[in-house]
Amino acid sequence: MIPVTKPFLPKIQEFGEYMSAIWERQWLTNNGPLVNELELNLKRYLDVKHLLYVANGTIALQIAIKALGLKGEIITTPFSFVATTNSIVWEGCKPVFVDIDGETFNIDPKKIEAAITPDTTGILATHVYGNPCDIDAIQEIADRYGLKVIYDAAHCFGTKYKNKSVFEYGDISTTSFHATKLFHTIEGGAVFTQCPDLLKKMALMRNFGHDGPDEFSELGINGKNCEFHAAMGLCNLKQVNEILDKRRLLSFYYWRALSNLEAKYPKLNDSLDYNYAYFPVLFNSEELMLRCLKALENEKVYCRRYFYPSLAKLPYVTATHLPVCDSISKRILCLPLYHTLTCSDLDLITRVILRVQNYDNPVNDVKQDLMMVNNNQLA
Ligand SMILES: *Cc1c(COP(=O)(O)O)cnc(C)c1O
Repeated sequence: MIPVTKPFLPKIQEFGEYMSAIWERQWLTNNGPLVNELELNLKRYLDVKHLLYVANGTIALQIAIKALGLKGEIITTPFSFVATTNSIVWEGCKPVFVDIDGETFNIDPKKIEAAITPDTTGILATHVYGNPCDIDAIQEIADRYGLKVIYDAAHCFGTKYKNKSVFEYGDISTTSFHATKLFHTIEGGAVFTQCPDLLKKMALMRNFGHDGPDEFSELGINGKNCEFHAAMGLCNLKQVNEILDKRRLLSFYYWRALSNLEAKYPKLNDSLDYNYAYFPVLFNSEELMLRCLKALENEKVYCRRYFYPSLAKLPYVTATHLPVCDSISKRILCLPLYHTLTCSDLDLITRVILRVQNYDNPVNDVKQDLMMVNNNQLA
């Protein structure tokens, strides 16, 4: 069986050493030493000034929206994981969907201005598959209209844009360290900001607003994380460069093996150090994609339709028809990509896909007939 992803797991002895230390200290959660160590090591690894480790990538988004005081309408992308939209609705705001760019699959900045109303307070965009949005264009619009910008950077671990961590862009960036992400702490996430006041506010917010044992200076929630998850993060961080290298090689193998496939891949941003977080393939038709999906399932290869359906079709939002997103979300498939995938796995996956495409192409049937005739009658 080949799943779409597999979590990295460290050596159990290594994790066990952290567990013994936790048993020794009997300090399980509430800003413990491992959470602090993980925050420090992440700052160093990512080369970012500030970061707060939180319980998951969804609470990170909710805290970001709350900390910026966003109300009313938030402009957002329909092409992301459902948590992006949910966090907006959960915080009592209205998601206003803007269509995506047909090349990068990120929110199309050219279409943002038309969606701005007097109720708009912010933009929440996702760097889809770890490929940064058109950050400069989005910031320019935000500055002109006085809007706040949040980036859902859940796919962006290790990604750099213009030689700087992608996490340092926008008023706040958020990420997820869920087990399905390339760096994970089982469950977990983080918020990033360059603004000291926002950082302080979010630090209070993630811990009930506690400002001293009997003081509460902010409306807060339980957004903190624990020693056990931090231990997993500390183990995995030591291995993350090898994981990134392996994913890069696997992606190049895919691109080469599928070079005859009539499909498209996201156009990667120019000033980018990419992290190979996913391997999305945009097929020419939904029918061909579904046939590949089925053929792969017959070989026990399980892909995922990331992201389908369009978030603008969720039952609790104002249904919005967005032609580019509607078309892309129907035709896209993410192929398996994880650190222990082998060449023979990739050979199987790419062979199945190419076979479906060739079978689809009637010229190939004629070609085969022609070859038979040549062999039998003219040899
Ligand atoms: C995974 C993911 C999230 C949610 O993260 P959790 O840690 O699972 O809450 C949010 N947005 C995007 C784009 C994601 O891929």
